[in-house]
Amino acid sequence: MTDRSILIHHPDFAEYDFGPGHPLRPERLQTGLGLLQACGVYDPLTDSPAVVPATRTELALVHDDVFIDAVIGAGSGDAPPAVYAHFGLHSRDNPPFPCMHEASAFVTGGSVGAARAIMRGEALHAFNPAGGLHHALKARASGFCIYNDPAVAAAVLAREFGARVFYVDFDCHHGDGVQWLFYDDPGVFTLSFHETGTYLFPGTGAPDEIGEGAGERTSANVPFAPYTEDASWQEAVEGLLPDLVERFRPDVLISNHGCDTHDWDPLTHLSLTTASLVWQARLTHELAHSACEGRWLALGSGGYEWRRVVPRSWAILWAEMAQRPLDDVLPEAWVREWEIAEGAPMPRTISDGPGTVRRIPRRAEIEALNRESVRLARSFAGLPN
Ligand SMILES: [Zn+2]
Ligand SMILES: [Zn+2]
Repeated sequence: MTDRSILIHHPDFAEYDFGPGHPLRPERLQTGLGLLQACGVYDPLTDSPAVVPATRTELALVHDDVFIDAVIGAGSGDAPPAVYAHFGLHSRDNPPFPCMHEASAFVTGGSVGAARAIMRGEALHAFNPAGGLHHALKARASGFCIYNDPAVAAAVLAREFGARVFYVDFDCHHGDGVQWLFYDDPGVFTLSFHETGTYLFPGTGAPDEIGEGAGERTSANVPFAPYTEDASWQEAVEGLLPDLVERFRPDVLISNHGCDTHDWDPLTHLSLTTASLVWQARLTHELAHSACEGRWLALGSGGYEWRRVVPRSWAILWAEMAQRPLDDVLPEAWVREWEIAEGAPMPRTISDGPGTVRRIPRRAEIEALNRESVRLARSFAGLPN
């Protein structure tokens, strides 16, 4: 069996672009993959296989035909945008853009191709930084997500390979789309760690969302209080993820590494540092080997500090997957390039120094709230407390 890690990328992934002023910046591919190359841990020629778009049949594994038609129509500008409002395509979050279908199907194809490469033994681990569009629903775009690539990849793994899939979502927002698409499916487990829906989009992800019908107890959720810091986050993840993976016995792991949990993210309110991103990449890697013979698909997902956080997050994850040494000190040329381009200071190291996270006087209260969330999630999952 190969131990190869592949990184899924194509320059045209940058066509997935909602336009100037939208928080999901396509420039993150440039800053992020630029850092990986500057660090000497990524070579596009040898690490990145060819990518093909997801087919309509693949998309239809989780999306309605009328929705796919609406995405095609909205992207070709064949009707006033309001016509597509019903499909979530006429909003500030998901405004139609030219070739919206083609760009979205291409990113999804990256995750599907990665999933197949893993199951066919062509790669052991695969990372699609542009993937992880976890909010898209059966017939509705949502939260910057048109097609739900984690869900399409999970459906391909389940239908084509008969694989049991464990999906773990570390993004700051609840992984609602993936959860609802497999809510009654016993073959796909969805576990999401996220900032509580009381304060953050999409508002769901309570511990009592556990799946339904045949899929009961194949969804789990841990909502975190705003200003959660590293120690509490790690305690909660450790307190649930390994037990659920062990009990479910998956064949393959899909992980969503949205780094909008970082303290500097402009859209969210958690207070993690890169120490947690390092920690969760290592834990997921260990679980992939201990539970799934190494089969692991990782997705980049959210992260809106596209200069100071996203690149470091991707470097951390990819270096862990490919087991390549990553210096703590960032390459000076890369730091200077983005400092000059953006006229703002950049971090100098992968690790976040003291003072990155402001001390919150309510720390003990926040930790207690998070412990209660884990206790509830364990109870709903039928695990001992
Ligand atoms: Zn997010
Ligand atoms: Zn490995």
